[in-house]
Amino acid sequence: DPPGERVGFAVVGLGRIAVNEMLPAFARSKHARVTSLVSGDRDKALKIARQYGIPEQAVFDYRDHDRLADHKATQAVYIALPNSMHAEYTVRAAQAGKHVFCEKPMANSVAECQQMIDACAKAQRLLMIAYRSQYEANDRAILKMVRARRLGTLREFISSNCQNQGDPDQWRHKKALAGGGPLPDVGIYCLNAARFLSGEEPVEVIGHTWANPNDPRFREIEEAVHFILRFPSGFTATCTSSYSGHNAKFLRLIGSEAWVELDPAYSYSGIRLRVGRLVDGKDSVQEIALESDDQFVKELDHMAQCVKANRRPHTPGEEGLQDMRVIEAIYQSAREGRPVTL
Ligand code: NDP
Repeated sequence: DPPGERVGFAVVGLGRIAVNEMLPAFARSKHARVTSLVSGDRDKALKIARQYGIPEQAVFDYRDHDRLADHKATQAVYIALPNSMHAEYTVRAAQAGKHVFCEKPMANSVAECQQMIDACAKAQRLLMIAYRSQYEANDRAILKMVRARRLGTLREFISSNCQNQGDPDQWRHKKALAGGGPLPDVGIYCLNAARFLSGEEPVEVIGHTWANPNDPRFREIEEAVHFILRFPSGFTATCTSSYSGHNAKFLRLIGSEAWVELDPAYSYSGIRLRVGRLVDGKDSVQEIALESDDQFVKELDHMAQCVKANRRPHTPGEEGLQDMRVIEAIYQSAREGRPVTL
């Protein structure tokens, strides 16, 4: 689209994901543009505004966020705030007449997710959760193989998403802001992939959490989580996620006829796909090199095109809510030491 016809977004919260990934993605997008900023740090915001050609009058504070209602160039918001703020700012944006593109995890509870869905429905605004992997080329290639039954019957999914999370003062280590530890932050990628690649919903969950009692980073949140999801067909997902493992990000989906692997999976770039199957009676492993992909632009353009066509996004609020139901069940299972039925 010519720049004037692109969907205008407010970027709400100018932290790492917004500044390092999404603002550059806006610059590469053909369907979206940044028209306003919302930040608690005016100096930083003005600097970024100058860099992206955003007028000073379009730089807002959290207190005057609701003035976005009168900012006609802004049709949607991209919310990149700490998890506990997603619900409040989604509701406020919808009430200001804006469509909402919200970072994962959608919120800190099922109840908050429902409030967000209800507020957007009431205001007749779209709500999309930023599940970038669902727009990524290698993930989409796997989905195609699954649907064409190239893997046979799906049997098992095994995945890990770990990162070494340092600063104990970061919001990610505060339960009230983060909602939990690695599970809602990075373990959610394993959970979401198990669901969207299989096309099934889990019916039973077993969860276990652990934290080193002497590590100040884990006073409020878990350090590591393990979970098993059981699906109606007999397919199972076994996942681990921690804030103390070094950047292990992989998935393996095993069917009766073949397996596929992403290693790394869930990274911003450099995702690699391998397929293992029998060829002439012998085990064969093939690496499939796909054209380099741009998940951030893909998800952003999808949201912008949905706004233009008034079409429901591929990863709507209900997708975020379903993951939150499973996350709550994993924590419940870990607390009670028994499987939880969904
Ligand atoms: P950061 O801590 O880097 O940024 C969060 C920003 O939120 C801050 O810079 C600040 O912006 C604003 N903010 C407002 N109130 C607070 C507060 N009380 N404490 C801290 N920050 C506050 O976080 P990330 O960018 O890493 O994460 C933001 C969101 O994006 C999270 O929900 C996270 O899960 C998600 N995310 C998604 C990723 C993906 O790949 N899809 C990757 C990384 C994060 P300002 O100074 O402008 O007010």
